[in-house]
Amino acid sequence: MVKCSHCGTEIIGDSFFCNDCGQTYCHMHQVPLNHECDIIRESMTSHQIETPDLNYDEYSQVSVTHQEQEFSPTVVRGTTGGSYTWYRQDIHVPVDAFDPGSGIKFKGILLAHKSEFLHLLIAAILIYLIGFMIFYDPALTSQGYGWAPFMLAGIYMTAFLSHEFGHRQVALHFKLQTKFRLLAFGMILTAFSLIVGLFSLLFPSFPPLPSLALPGAVVVLGLEKISNKTGLCKAAGPLVNLVYGIILYTISFLVPKDLYPLNYFFIVSAYLNFMLGAFNMIPFGILDGQNIWKWNRKVYVSLVLALGTLLISTLIIQQSASLINILYLP
Ligand SMILES: [Zn+2]
Ligand SMILES: [Zn+2]
Ligand SMILES: [Zn+2]
Repeated sequence: MVKCSHCGTEIIGDSFFCNDCGQTYCHMHQVPLNHECDIIRESMTSHQIETPDLNYDEYSQVSVTHQEQEFSPTVVRGTTGGSYTWYRQDIHVPVDAFDPGSGIKFKGILLAHKSEFLHLLIAAILIYLIGFMIFYDPALTSQGYGWAPFMLAGIYMTAFLSHEFGHRQVALHFKLQTKFRLLAFGMILTAFSLIVGLFSLLFPSFPPLPSLALPGAVVVLGLEKISNKTGLCKAAGPLVNLVYGIILYTISFLVPKDLYPLNYFFIVSAYLNFMLGAFNMIPFGILDGQNIWKWNRKVYVSLVLALGTLLISTLIIQQSASLINILYLP
């Protein structure tokens, strides 16, 4: 029986041979992107050049069956697809894999030796700074609403953090190893956003430039196949943004109109959450959407419809002076 080199399951039906890495895959992992082709090739070549200083077997608490080595590179492999680490199979995740002593080096993770708290703190500060630069507007200060950018940056930061905590807590519920980690690729994007932010602060007349603040993400080990575990871990992030957004949306109507524009800034805050949730539902690449779509179409469609409808409604209100007048002005 042929087994898929990526997920290890026996292939029922067509098997796919990848010419690039020379491994055989199941239907789901036939595309190079889905079996992390580049990393396999990389680890195969590095294995040939240098003897890996750390052999997996020495560190694992579980005995690794050697049949695995017939079709897979023996080099310790931990990879990050931006938001998640996809590890070969649950049984191959050693205890304390995130511990530097485990010998597992995760590609793309920055400051791997530092605590989760420090990672969260750095991410939170960076997102707050970028948020502040996005929302800072001299016109607001001159009208006496100088507090608004601080509030919106705070919501922007908590929207990001609660999204990540959604992933994290569900993963912990399933007893999976998980940590929030700063990611090299995300930090490059974030550094770029900081520069963009500074630029627009210095040249306010310049049209707003796109910026993306994603310094890191929750990394989960042992999510390999599309299962309820994977689906729920992934869906938790956008779901948290949906709930958080609905709460802020409701508050925007509960705040007394005399306090305008505080009530208005709550709908902007709700919009930020729907935006973040909807963005992550795009079924592409490392975004949550792809795995939710593969796991459960009904959940996917419901989340997209809910986030999409609320996103559009908050957008319409923000764009319409007469609606703002009716809903929020005293
Ligand atoms: Zn597979
Ligand atoms: Zn390949
Ligand atoms: Zn997410």
